[in-house]
Amino acid sequence: MTATTTCWDCNGTGISAPAATNTAFRDIPCARCHGSGQCLEIMREWMKRGEILRQKRERLDLSLREYARLHGWKSPELSDAERGRINPENFLNVQMEARRE
Ligand SMILES: [Zn+2]
Repeated sequence: MTATTTCWDCNGTGISAPAATNTAFRDIPCARCHGSGQCLEIMREWMKRGEILRQKRERLDLSLREYARLHGWKSPELSDAERGRINPENFLNVQMEARRE
């Protein structure tokens, strides 16, 4: 099941939010739907999990870059996971195992 819906980041325009107001960025496609204007329904669930991931990182008082480096992740991927643009499940699982508190 791959239900899609109108992308809520760009309201279906397929253009990133800053691009909508600044013509210098008008060619930048929306990071969530990659310019299609449609995204997966399941991304709403990913956003909830990504928020949990972000809160865990902030509790450790680490920047996105620091936290990504600590776990051997790429910071753009971690950023996408926290925003629910990709499934954050793998990041959450790894983080549980790596916990040393
Ligand atoms: Zn979009």
